[in-house]
Amino acid sequence: MGVTRTPLIAGNWKMNEDHLQAIALVQKLAWTLKDANHDFADAEVAVFPPFTDLRSVQTLVSADKLEIAYGGQDISANDSGAYTGEISGAFLAKLDCSYVIIGHSERRQYHNESDELIGRKVLAAVRHGLVPVLCVGETAEDLEKFGASAVPVSQVKAALADFPKDAPLVVAYEPVWAIGSGKAATAEQAGEVATVLRATLTEILGAEAADKVRILYGGSVKKANIAGFMKQKDVDGALVGGASLDVDEFAGIAQFGKHVTV
Ligand code: PEP
Repeated sequence: MGVTRTPLIAGNWKMNEDHLQAIALVQKLAWTLKDANHDFADAEVAVFPPFTDLRSVQTLVSADKLEIAYGGQDISANDSGAYTGEISGAFLAKLDCSYVIIGHSERRQYHNESDELIGRKVLAAVRHGLVPVLCVGETAEDLEKFGASAVPVSQVKAALADFPKDAPLVVAYEPVWAIGSGKAATAEQAGEVATVLRATLTEILGAEAADKVRILYGGSVKKANIAGFMKQKDVDGALVGGASLDVDEFAGIAQFGKHVTV
């Protein structure tokens, strides 16, 4: 029998919102979710602000006892030392981050992050008690050449080669062609890849651990299309970019249980 996986709705703010704007955004999100009687047992909500916002977000979340989780958008593979510009998992853990996004396609593309480096970052997250949100996904070219699941499967295998089976993990399937394009995958496409990814996780980690991993879909998720994704048996939430900066839209996504699919 499968475990019950609490859905996770995660907002990747990318390089948007300074620390003052972050306070206002998280405050408004908390109020909006409260007004909607959001039950965090139905869907966990997490935000991923820029590094310079995290201390402010931590202070607000702790002072107001908010149930909103948060994390970094990246992590260094190293724990400390001469790595100019990098952020250690130790620093994220000290700020009470729960999660860290690793291997986002924008990091893979603009910073040439390899599968090997991403695997080391995943292990760094585990060392510091952070839950990695491992992003995988195919480009439009990959899709045409290899189909939808081949590249995400090979990215998962490479990143998790040395992953400890009992560590918590989130995998975000984000087709690169769907990110920021307004052209989301269909719910069925996302569901099919998520099922293949869970089978891959079963091969790597065993059935019990794979069953616990939350698999998110990401790529042009909105209030209007979230319900379809959430109906897929292996999709356990969403990684949301653009729409996470619009509080009503993001809160609406978190409240996916209330929507009727179109
Ligand atoms: C993302 O950046 O992870 C993402 C899914 O972006 P968007 O929702 O804007 O497509």
